Amino acid sequence: MEYEVIIGIEVHAELSTKTKIYCGCTTEFGGDPNTHCCPVCTGQPGALPVLNEKVVEYAVKAGLATGCTITRNSKQDRKNYFYPDLPKAYQISQYDLPLCVNGGFDVTLKDGTTKHLGITRIHIEEDAGKLVHDTYTGGTLVDLNRAGVPLIEIVSEPDMRSAEDAVAYVEKLKGILEYIGVSDCKMQEGSLRADVNLSLRPVGQKEFGTRTETKNLNSFRAIEHSINFEIQRQKEVLESGGTVYQETRRWDEAEGMGYSMRTKEDAHDYRYFPEPDLMPIKLSEEYIENIKNNLPELPEARKARYVSELNLPEYDAGIITSSKALSDFFEEASKECENPKAVSNWIMTDIIRIAREQDLDYANLPFTAKSFASLIKLIDAGTISNSIAKKVFEDMISTGKEAEEIVKEKGLMQISDEGAIKEVVDRVVEANPQSIADYKAGKDRALGFLVGQCMKELKGKGNPQIINKLVLEHLK
Ligand SMILES: [Zn+2]
Repeated sequence: MEYEVIIGIEVHAELSTKTKIYCGCTTEFGGDPNTHCCPVCTGQPGALPVLNEKVVEYAVKAGLATGCTITRNSKQDRKNYFYPDLPKAYQISQYDLPLCVNGGFDVTLKDGTTKHLGITRIHIEEDAGKLVHDTYTGGTLVDLNRAGVPLIEIVSEPDMRSAEDAVAYVEKLKGILEYIGVSDCKMQEGSLRADVNLSLRPVGQKEFGTRTETKNLNSFRAIEHSINFEIQRQKEVLESGGTVYQETRRWDEAEGMGYSMRTKEDAHDYRYFPEPDLMPIKLSEEYIENIKNNLPELPEARKARYVSELNLPEYDAGIITSSKALSDFFEEASKECENPKAVSNWIMTDIIRIAREQDLDYANLPFTAKSFASLIKLIDAGTISNSIAKKVFEDMISTGKEAEEIVKEKGLMQISDEGAIKEVVDRVVEANPQSIADYKAGKDRALGFLVGQCMKELKGKGNPQIINKLVLEHLK
């Protein structure tokens, strides 16, 4: 039987506010265990929460940037459950009146097609602490530094049909959150993590099949691999006449395996009720309007600008703007050397390659936009040729030196002195009478050969246009 895959994703993003959602403790990552907490975020009796206004502002920003409607009346609710990393035995979240609803955006897939993926809601909530397994005592310890760090949970519509759709959705969402600066989106530190809901249904059937939820995926690779694993697993269960159970699963990326953790609860199991210690959230039109007017340029708008104003190919503009760090690098370098086309070409080839090879984040490239721009300036001024520039670029990465310094030290300056080049050209052409004859017999390849020989004599530093011109003159 043919099955259709249905995927919905919940993304949790830690907000980059300075302090926690209901107290003044720092949200800084790390620190000695249990040093970033107070009576409120450790759930002591009598401690009362006060909502951090920045959290609402950041969530509204995220909603506006993802096409959501901002609700004017919203409230917070208690989600009751026990877990050792949650001392209050409830998490403050939002149940039926989230801050943002009905959004979505388009993603472009590898085959060039565009797909609209919907967002059901965005709500605010607090993070829980962390359990740390202690190898020394063999016990499990609790670290509450993360308890009360503000989160937004972004719930998608079940619009995705493959791992590719899912990765494109999370990539786009991550890019938007980075542009508006509400989360650092560091997946490896867990500040952006995804839960994937997945089910299969026979093609043509209307009702959804039973879904499973794979939790806490913290890399694009894990999202892709766990989805493909789960599709295969459910298919095998269904094809052998078995039943897919509604359950929560975890993914082990190192093993390439998913495991069942527990049967999944429904919302009513959590006995949600309105949080009595916090007021409803009422937002004025001016408040929302003000945030809307102060949103920075988003990836879609930047991409359109690169295409229309800088004449970059649509595909290149899409790749560059998908990462804020890379796009900022592009802008700064282009401004400095006034040659955006050249910067874009280098990004699409060498810079992306280097980042992949060395597993670098675009925010931590081994050279600054300014140093990179000086390399382009050296090419544009005719000081070095393009092929020499590639070597200088490699040296910049391995030594950390500036382009000018490398060119000077290694004597790589392009030779544009016609007199010096003519001397070489005369010598090379006269030493190759066969090539002269070939050229005169109409074999254009002979010209390329002679130019190549001259360049070799000049150790790759000759100005190619001048060599070409002088060889032609000699052959006339
Ligand atoms: Zn606290």
